[in-house]
Amino acid sequence: MTKAIVVGSGAGGCMAAKELAACGMDVTVLETGRAFRPFKWNLDKLEPARQAGLFFDERMISLLFPEMRIEKAQDGLVHVTGRAVGGTTTLATGNALRYDRYLAGVGINLDAEFAELEHEVPQTTEHRAGWSELTERLFSAFEDLGLEPQITPKFMNDASRCVQCGMCVLGCKFGAKWTADELISDVEGVTMVAGATVEKVAIENGRATGVVVSRGAGARRKLAQADLVVLAAGGLGTPVILEASGIPASPTLFVDPVLCVAAHMEGAGLEHQLPMPFVSEQPDYILSPYFDWLSFYFNKGWRMPHGDIISIMIKMADASVGSYDGKHLDKPLLDSDWETIARAVDKSYEVLEAIGVPREETFFGTLNAGHPGGCFPLTEAEAETLHHEVLPPNLYLADASLLPRSMGNPPMLTIMALAKRVARLAANA
Ligand SMILES: Cc1cc2nc3c(=O)[nH]c(=O)nc-3n(C[C@H](O)[C@H](O)[C@H](O)COP(=O)(O)OP(=O)(O)OC[C@H]3O[C@@H](n4cnc5c(N)ncnc54)[C@H](O)[C@@H]3O)c2cc1C
Repeated sequence: MTKAIVVGSGAGGCMAAKELAACGMDVTVLETGRAFRPFKWNLDKLEPARQAGLFFDERMISLLFPEMRIEKAQDGLVHVTGRAVGGTTTLATGNALRYDRYLAGVGINLDAEFAELEHEVPQTTEHRAGWSELTERLFSAFEDLGLEPQITPKFMNDASRCVQCGMCVLGCKFGAKWTADELISDVEGVTMVAGATVEKVAIENGRATGVVVSRGAGARRKLAQADLVVLAAGGLGTPVILEASGIPASPTLFVDPVLCVAAHMEGAGLEHQLPMPFVSEQPDYILSPYFDWLSFYFNKGWRMPHGDIISIMIKMADASVGSYDGKHLDKPLLDSDWETIARAVDKSYEVLEAIGVPREETFFGTLNAGHPGGCFPLTEAEAETLHHEVLPPNLYLADASLLPRSMGNPPMLTIMALAKRVARLAANA
């Protein structure tokens, strides 16, 4: 039986593993993180420390919540990823949006894969019944301003289990949110190995022979042999593994920066609403109501009680300029990025003004991001094979690294569609 190794168990890795097993392969998924557990601390108990300003660096999150990893770029942009079985999907707010126009632009049509995903992965818009009066007011304001808000389809196993606690990004305690590891939880032919960090791909005579893996600090490195290797360690993880294997990544990292425009509003209660219940798509950015827990804990401007903050999230498509070497995140924002942010901030002011919040009373959240990708972008040259020539013939990528450019939109669904196609092509290569 052909032996395949998939590295990483996020959106791309789990989908690739499932498809490879369906093609008859014996699949092992190697994941550096452990089994995911939602954030367990009582937020009220953290409040005195927050008020005293003891949370001063976002990287401290990993001490309380090791499943969330934070990197900081030189100019301060805070980057969030998931490190656990299920990858970053464990931290997602569950937005299930198709956004493949740039893939279509290089000749990759994933209609068939998206159609399969409709049945394979639970997606629902049945959450409006739980919206608060404020969320409804915001929806109307977006409509009145011609922003054409769309109710966000969510990856949910059962909408009735969602209690709108607003904590999706800290993991769902109620089993309402769907995460990617569910794709392979009962699939025959797939073995999940958690706590296994892949350092590099072993390559001999131009072919991948397996991966070099270590299990825990100080543990001996071992070669795990395979006939096929699929890297899906995410937009930051995959380039690091390839660099260590002698295959340089392209300095075209994008991250989809996020900035919240917020204001004090007594009794807003946004923190206990489903995050991003609807989305307005604008050229190069989206707007959506979102309570920003990162800013609430780490941004001095957010010291008021969580119930009294209203906030609109801007998520934007950034230029493909940046890199990550495993230690240093180089992600400059260009003038064109700041111009997009300025346009989006103006639109956010209009929304807040429409519900009675003057722009002079607004303040910003912390500039952050969580959609890294683009260091092995697909072009027309790879449209048929989804395989880069610089890679050995039996080494494939199946994660956000392949995306041609920043989408400024939630990418999970698109990454899964892509990984599905990659796995089938790899199995039949
Ligand atoms: C707070 C937050 C909310 C989000 N909400 C949404 C949303 O609502 N909808 C949406 O579409 N997207 C959302 N995203 C983005 C989305 O989760 C990611 O873009 C997506 O999961 C990326 O998929 P991936 O397969 O590329 O990587 P990931 O899902 O990040 O998976 C990569 C996996 O590889 C593992 N790994 C890394 N290095 C190694 C190594 N050396 N050896 C072994 N394993 C390794 C990692 O631990 C991780 O588990 C959100 C992101 C964040 C941060």
